[in-house]
Amino acid sequence: MTPAGLLLVISGPGGVGKDTVIDRLLELDPNIRFAVSFTTRPKRDYEIDGVHYSFVSKPKFEELIGRGELLEWTKLEANGYLYGSSRSRVEKLQRSGKDVVLKIEVHGAEAIRQQRPDGIFIFLQPPSMEELMRRRHERGSEDEEEMKRRQKLAAWEMSHAQYYDYVVVNENADVAARDILEIVKAERARRKAATAEAPGAN
Ligand code: 5GP
Repeated sequence: MTPAGLLLVISGPGGVGKDTVIDRLLELDPNIRFAVSFTTRPKRDYEIDGVHYSFVSKPKFEELIGRGELLEWTKLEANGYLYGSSRSRVEKLQRSGKDVVLKIEVHGAEAIRQQRPDGIFIFLQPPSMEELMRRRHERGSEDEEEMKRRQKLAAWEMSHAQYYDYVVVNENADVAARDILEIVKAERARRKAATAEAPGAN
């Protein structure tokens, strides 16, 4: 039987560069797959439906909650939209031996930890708060009000880094992706040790 893949939960304040780092990570190792979440937020120009998120209506999202398809879900205070991770996508990928990445905010990560203590929780940090604000300004997808709300949220999120298993600083996306890959390799080796059989055991 193929051993189940790892579950990687990656959090970090909006604008820290999670998308880019995760894209690089997926390029570095084909065994690592992204579990696409559902959201009611409108699509940004550069996003592709089914790749970055599955963009759904609120009634559809509620239907997903109703049938237990969401491993966890949250309403993001900063913008009022709903986000939730797909139970079936995560489980299917893991069963096929893939290491699965979930990109979720702090509350969602806490909810996953309750259900999945075997998960590996990684917090992506910006080099500084100033740099985070600069990156978000550059992205320009938010109005002034949302920027302010998200800045508050970012400070709050950063104070939760201590509850994660690992903190990776995203100074440079390639380096951060490689740092995460090192964590993945170490965790794979650790699980191998935990399930290793004594010589001659069978
Ligand atoms: P954005 O709108 O910038 O793509 O994401 C906003 C926040 O929602 C980010 O912190 C992101 O990690 C989080 N997020 C994305 N997908 C999920 C999900 O499935 N569940 C939860 N709880 N948060 C998510």
